[in-house]
Amino acid sequence: ERRYRVLVTDEVDPEGVAILRAHPDIEVVEKPTRPLTEVLEEIGTYDAFIGRSATRVTREFLQAGERLRIIGRAGVGVDNVDLPTATELGIAVINAPGGNTVSVAELAFGVLIGLARHVPVAAESMRAGRWDRSKLGGIELRGKTMAIIGVGRIGGEMARRARAFGMQVIGYDPYIAAPRFEELAIERVERLNEALERADVLTVHVPLNNETRGMIGAPELSRMGRQAFVLNLARGGVVAEDALADALTSGRIAGAAVDAFDHEPLPVDSPLRAIPNLILTPHLGASTTDAQRNVAVEACEAVRDALVT
Ligand code: NAD
Repeated sequence: ERRYRVLVTDEVDPEGVAILRAHPDIEVVEKPTRPLTEVLEEIGTYDAFIGRSATRVTREFLQAGERLRIIGRAGVGVDNVDLPTATELGIAVINAPGGNTVSVAELAFGVLIGLARHVPVAAESMRAGRWDRSKLGGIELRGKTMAIIGVGRIGGEMARRARAFGMQVIGYDPYIAAPRFEELAIERVERLNEALERADVLTVHVPLNNETRGMIGAPELSRMGRQAFVLNLARGGVVAEDALADALTSGRIAGAAVDAFDHEPLPVDSPLRAIPNLILTPHLGASTTDAQRNVAVEACEAVRDALVT
């Protein structure tokens, strides 16, 4: 008789699930992503739950989980989990903070080069039968300044990659001590405004919270140079969508790339979809086989250890 029942959903990578299955005291039940009402009916029979972001772990969910001790998230953000309620009920919330990092940084450089060299526009024009060579001149990244807002895991990987491209790297993160900036060879700036004014590329890698929601809005964008690119591969709302759309359509900044949105999926009629110098991706930052395997292994190991010890 296995002592602990774990519900796994949202297609957590099998390499992670195998770690749980291998433990003699753990019974794993795997289900596809389902409507919350269906999950609520049975969540009371489990000791732990592991998912990605598709299942919303609401107050109702946590209250229905009478035996629940652990919520595992095979990914970074836990904004799909009602943390105050989990704390209130003594349910631990465990994420997999490191497994996604490189995938996000690599996508950020992908879209950055896309902006610098008009790759999406060029590819579309070729598909449409054109040869727009003279219209599509770009710029080099070498010698340009990247301003990293939030010098955590992903911000740090951005810095390493930016240096390899010969960029100058500045960082704004009031919560990180000086040695980390030195180790990453990032010039520390004390004020967000300085980062905005100096950036050729502004890239945000902060969590979404009350302090960072709308952190880059119209006043901030108005401080940036007309040559600047803005990247938001963090969370929707860190860069205000309306303000970004205005800055792009008015030529206030040169281009942007957004991977995470206020409302996901992004509404079909969102004005963002029609802006030419904006590269949109459907929250693909962590969507690599490598990252999904890494975060699944990280989360499943952590949940196993928390359950059985
Ligand atoms: P992290 O916790 O390692 O780093 C976040 C950094 O932001 C920390 O250093 C923190 O001090 C800093 N910070 C917090 N508030 C700040 C503020 N007001 N001003 C400046 N800095 C501030 O997180 P991470 O793993 O690097 O992830 C960063 C972001 O990327 C998160 O929002 C995460 O949700 C997002 N993310 C997106 C994807 C995707 O698929 N697009 C995948 C993974 C992570």
